[in-house]
Amino acid sequence: MRPPPLTPSEASRPAEAFPAHTPAAAQIFTIVLSHGPLTRAEIARRAALSPAAVTKAVRPLIELGYLLEDADDEHRRALGRPANLVRVDGGRALFLGVKVTGDEIIAVLADLCCRIRVARRVPLGDRRAEGVLATLSGLVLELLAEAEELGAPVKGVGIAVSGDVDRAEGLVRYSPFLEWRDVPLANLAAMTVGLPVTVDNDVRALTVAEQWFGAGVGLADFALVTVGAGIGCGLVVGGRVVSGAHGVAGEIGHLSFDPAGPRCHCGNRGCVEAVASESAIVRDVRAETGIDVADAAQALELAHRGDPGARAVYARAGAVIGRAIGAVVNLLGPERVIISGEGLAAYDLFAAEIKGAFAASAFGAAARCDVTTCPLPFEEWARGAAATAIQSFIRADSRDGRG
Ligand SMILES: [Zn+2]
Repeated sequence: MRPPPLTPSEASRPAEAFPAHTPAAAQIFTIVLSHGPLTRAEIARRAALSPAAVTKAVRPLIELGYLLEDADDEHRRALGRPANLVRVDGGRALFLGVKVTGDEIIAVLADLCCRIRVARRVPLGDRRAEGVLATLSGLVLELLAEAEELGAPVKGVGIAVSGDVDRAEGLVRYSPFLEWRDVPLANLAAMTVGLPVTVDNDVRALTVAEQWFGAGVGLADFALVTVGAGIGCGLVVGGRVVSGAHGVAGEIGHLSFDPAGPRCHCGNRGCVEAVASESAIVRDVRAETGIDVADAAQALELAHRGDPGARAVYARAGAVIGRAIGAVVNLLGPERVIISGEGLAAYDLFAAEIKGAFAASAFGAAARCDVTTCPLPFEEWARGAAATAIQSFIRADSRDGRG
């Protein structure tokens, strides 16, 4: 059933902008968000700003309730003078984060500290943009009702979609799982839900959440590699989430290590995704074992039962993922590579090959990079989308992907 369109009064409250839309305010707010509570002196040090500049930026944020300043006895004693701690008031505003997969929409209502307050999942029957927007508006209505209960205004919506996504234009240029080309999703969704909408690549959105709150906190350079339906990579270089000039930086799924390898949906041969994505693994397990496994879960089960053919397919996938990680590390020298995604369920089957191929391809000191795993369910991806909405809200430069 198609949900009714939102009325303006349900969908949006009067647009109240984030105060002091200056780069310094956005920078300070982001620092307090991921490292707070902090004293003003600590904020000044981390932001490389003068205490006066911090005070100037913090004042309107405190006046409007986005930041709170608490007296902290321990700091007072340690410093021998008053040093109040500044923190974000999470309850001051709410955001919706939505992750669209090929067969499901996962949505969360998150507060200003990006803590998930409510999470919902609905199956996606119709992958066309109209179908996704209809399902999306139903979910948004439900979550706006929850927001009403929480008593804070909803300030924006973030939508995360896999593929080639232009955040600045709000455009999904190409999404293989949805079979979309050139869908102006941000504008379509904003018209449907009546709130500001940020659209970004799903792995990049997840990378924002990991940078602010997860395994990337405090790291200037890291990579998040996701394995599953696709093979993706979010990159943080010099403290910024990288989109590249064309919005497709980090597409390690389409590095080709074998020009004679299997055909990829992108048109090339031997891409990492053509060997190590779930659909590629299912195809190869069928070919290798002669058993007609229906999906990735069955392929995984067969391998876990010890079928040598199925295990060999996972080993090959692991070797290709490991080489791709080696390429990222050789190019950018991250401090850490975090491997995540639904494909982690098979990690025991290809961990040794990933590590072996990475060690063989990493050059010199690059091999010191910490390669680690972190399970992140789809709710965390939706939370990443909420993080991009928060990012847009607190920054004057709105939709662009600069971290
Ligand atoms: Zn490809």
